[in-house]
Amino acid sequence: MAGFAPTAPPAMPISLYNSLSRRLEPFAPLDPNRVTLYLCGPTVYNYVHIGNARGPVVFDVLVKLLRRHYPQVVYARNITDVDDKINAAALEQGVAIGSITSRFAQAYREDMAGLGIAPPDVEPHATAHIGQIIEMIQALIRGGHAYEAQGHVLFDVAAYPTYGALSGRDTDELIAGARVEVAPYKRNPTDFVLWKPSTPELPGWDSPWGRGRPGWHIECSAMSAAHLGETIDIHAGGVDLLFPHHENEIAQSTCAHGGKVFARWWMHNGMLTFDGRKMSKSLGNVLHVHALLKMHPHEALRLLLLRGHYRQPLDWSDAAIAQAISTLDGWYRVLRELSGIELDGTQPLPVPERLEAALCDDLNTPQALAELSVLADAARQAPSPATKAALLGGGAVLGLLQQDPEAWFKQAGGSEVDAGQVEALLEERRAARAARDFARADAIRNELTSMGVVIEDGAQGTRWSVAKH
Ligand SMILES: [Zn+2]
Repeated sequence: MAGFAPTAPPAMPISLYNSLSRRLEPFAPLDPNRVTLYLCGPTVYNYVHIGNARGPVVFDVLVKLLRRHYPQVVYARNITDVDDKINAAALEQGVAIGSITSRFAQAYREDMAGLGIAPPDVEPHATAHIGQIIEMIQALIRGGHAYEAQGHVLFDVAAYPTYGALSGRDTDELIAGARVEVAPYKRNPTDFVLWKPSTPELPGWDSPWGRGRPGWHIECSAMSAAHLGETIDIHAGGVDLLFPHHENEIAQSTCAHGGKVFARWWMHNGMLTFDGRKMSKSLGNVLHVHALLKMHPHEALRLLLLRGHYRQPLDWSDAAIAQAISTLDGWYRVLRELSGIELDGTQPLPVPERLEAALCDDLNTPQALAELSVLADAARQAPSPATKAALLGGGAVLGLLQQDPEAWFKQAGGSEVDAGQVEALLEERRAARAARDFARADAIRNELTSMGVVIEDGAQGTRWSVAKH
């Protein structure tokens, strides 16, 4: 059922909230045939936590929506593979940074795939773009927007009067009120690093300013220009990146490209909280995607991340996971009831119009999920190929209901129980009941319960499923 893609819906306008204008705006790409989107990716030195997966899941739904509406979408999600945190981990473990970054970049790809996220079209790595980064810094120096000091190159915030437009901060106030580290090589405390010197034990590249490495912000500006062009349609990321990272990206790209608009839309997803608290190592509530995927069905994790509107904060809790599983149980129960209804596999699944309209309205996934529930009710009340196809088509748009219903009910957490063993015990129970040995039949039922298997005796025989929480 996951094999065929949903059909394109009738032309429907898309509106997206733009963090730069602070308004909902009708979306139209610069080139009507090609949408460009850049999402700030991970710094790869450890497994990512579930908070880091919210943006990739949300923007996966957005990219799929855009692909249904436009002939081409170029989606770039970068890998930051040089960074002081990576350097520290490499020094501590006595290995080259590449052995850490290649391992965790791969773990990241696996985690994202595990959540049903399609890979980006381009996955630029910072260390593969050092040449472009150096050229961009040179352009900034030539234009009077950056200066060299003691082996560092810094962006001169005072020379860019519109600095602060995205975050709504006033540059003069920023400079006056800045309490950030006062480095002797900075003209103003708000000036930020484009290039910094590397000591011999640190990774470094030759540059006009000596051996060194790039600052973090310039990496995204250079990779975005290299793969998507100087002006892109959408730049996305978590709201925690809005300042200073995205503010600095705008300053660098705009100044390096002669004042051209850098990103036409800025989209930011809200943060996850955990039982109402921020996730932190000291609170011991860091949840890695890697581990969660082993504990819960991936569609439940995905559903939870889509349950709130992407711009709002979202709370993660065991109760919320249980609720997501129970919602999916309900929808899969409908699909199991409809398992006798065959669909024409040569026809693409339809995109239900009301669900699509919800997504076109600033990616309103809570509304889209409510529409999916309506479709499930309709399919249960009036089973037919059309109602079944609508439910599956709506699920596909959100990356849900992609499993065979029997497989869904037979999985425990992220893994499956031994179905052969369950079937053998059920057969033994049938035989015991036929022989009126009810004590033995009850003992088998208890054994199944202890395995987390729930059985239901009905007119069509005994059905079983696995309790997932
Ligand atoms: Zn970035």
